Amino acid sequence: MAEIVIDQQPVHVFLTPEFAPVPVSTDDIGDLYMFDNEEDALSLGSYGWGGRWGRNRNTSAKLKENGKVGKNGTNDLNNSNGKTIEESIQEASDDDDERIEQEDYDSDDSEAHSRVGDIFTAPCRAAEQAEEFVKKVWEAGWRVVHHNSLPNWLRDNDFLHKGHRLPTNSFLECFKSIFRVHTETGNIWSHLLGMIAFIGITTFFVTRPTLEIQWQEKAVFSAFFMGAIVCLGFSWVFHTVFNHSHRIGKLFNKLDYCGIAILTMGSFVPWLYYGFYCHLGLKVFYMVLTFSLGTACITVSLWDKFSEPRFRPLRAGVFIAFGLSGVIPALHIVIKYGFWWAVNKASLGWLSLMAMLYIVGAIIYAVRIPERFFPGKFDIWFQSHQIFHMFVLAAAFVHYHGITEIAYQRLVFGDCLSDELF
Ligand SMILES: [Zn+2]
Repeated sequence: MAEIVIDQQPVHVFLTPEFAPVPVSTDDIGDLYMFDNEEDALSLGSYGWGGRWGRNRNTSAKLKENGKVGKNGTNDLNNSNGKTIEESIQEASDDDDERIEQEDYDSDDSEAHSRVGDIFTAPCRAAEQAEEFVKKVWEAGWRVVHHNSLPNWLRDNDFLHKGHRLPTNSFLECFKSIFRVHTETGNIWSHLLGMIAFIGITTFFVTRPTLEIQWQEKAVFSAFFMGAIVCLGFSWVFHTVFNHSHRIGKLFNKLDYCGIAILTMGSFVPWLYYGFYCHLGLKVFYMVLTFSLGTACITVSLWDKFSEPRFRPLRAGVFIAFGLSGVIPALHIVIKYGFWWAVNKASLGWLSLMAMLYIVGAIIYAVRIPERFFPGKFDIWFQSHQIFHMFVLAAAFVHYHGITEIAYQRLVFGDCLSDELF
């Protein structure tokens, strides 16, 4: 922040590192906007095109009302008309200058000086010019904005200040943003790469010769693989398109939650299959229970109200409860076969680790650590949702390892004759 004096009036401006200080003269008045506080400055200037300084106090309020404050993260990107942002800014600025010329704002120095005063005494005019200018830049191409500049339906996490995408109303624009840096970049790529990894593992697994891996094993493992691919797929697509529009955002948010329920169901299938390998009745009973709870989760996910931010703890709670329902068959195995058998033969240790990862991840997501303690410091990387995503990935890989172990124990060392002894 700096204080300059124009026409004997003190004016606060925010100076960005790349452009400060731009000389102040009456010639600049066409595109000189002033901030009355740093918060406003941040919402407009500090993230990208800092060369234009800000806006008048009244303009600031007006722009905030309209929710149309924008900025662009990189100056070398082209907009949809093939113009660079620099050109668009210049064009917007030229238009402003023309308007000023029409109104004889550029006559002689003393006259211009007196009209500088006019602008301050007629803030509405300055507000209109500034708004139009910002609108043009906003329309010019890629931009990320401050949390305060988002429409209500896009405001999810108050602790992430800068780098938010604006609504696009275009799937193409949303998918192009995958390759740009903003608050969702980490969320998109963590699960996009995870999905690609699981597609690779699935392809490898199901293309093994039948002599090596039987079709039953392929089918049972595939339930888990499909769950992982669907969950990670819905997740990265949701994070990519949720700023398309309110309607599309809500729809994909529901699918994101359905994906988690589908992964949980898919995870139970191989574990129950091998855990109760020789007990068809128990196997069927627990699978029916799992699918009933999973279906209940999906139903609740599809309920409109469920996607609102105030239901965040409830969402987390419902899914933790579904995940914890695995405790019942786990206890059953421990009681039936003993603790060490469960650990050594039924991957109880790996399954417990997986459960811990899901629970810790969900808690971090629900309480928004670490950005809660350092607001604005984790806008782009290492925010709670990214950590949650990494925990989900880790849990999925741990589960894969766990079911591989339990299947190995059953297929290589176990047979149902010895199992009947228990
Ligand atoms: Zn997510």
